[in-house]
Amino acid sequence: MVAQCVVCQSTIEKGDYCDAHSIAKKNLEKRFSDWQKAYNKLTWKEYLNRMNEDADIPVGEWAKEVAIHLFNQSKK
Ligand SMILES: [Zn+2]
Repeated sequence: MVAQCVVCQSTIEKGDYCDAHSIAKKNLEKRFSDWQKAYNKLTWKEYLNRMNEDADIPVGEWAKEVAIHLFNQSKK
């Protein structure tokens, strides 16, 4: 069974994300809980939107790619 990373389309054995994007997604989720403490009532979608729009957030390319993917997905 062969799958593809939903972000970069690289071939993976299973799941939705390659190793790099899987780690990036975890970091993104971890950072979200920090942000929720800093900004009151920040929703996951607002958070993704910020990641999407603010190029200055030092989150890393991979995490940003995951954020953009998830944000686009949430609009559907
Ligand atoms: Zn990937």
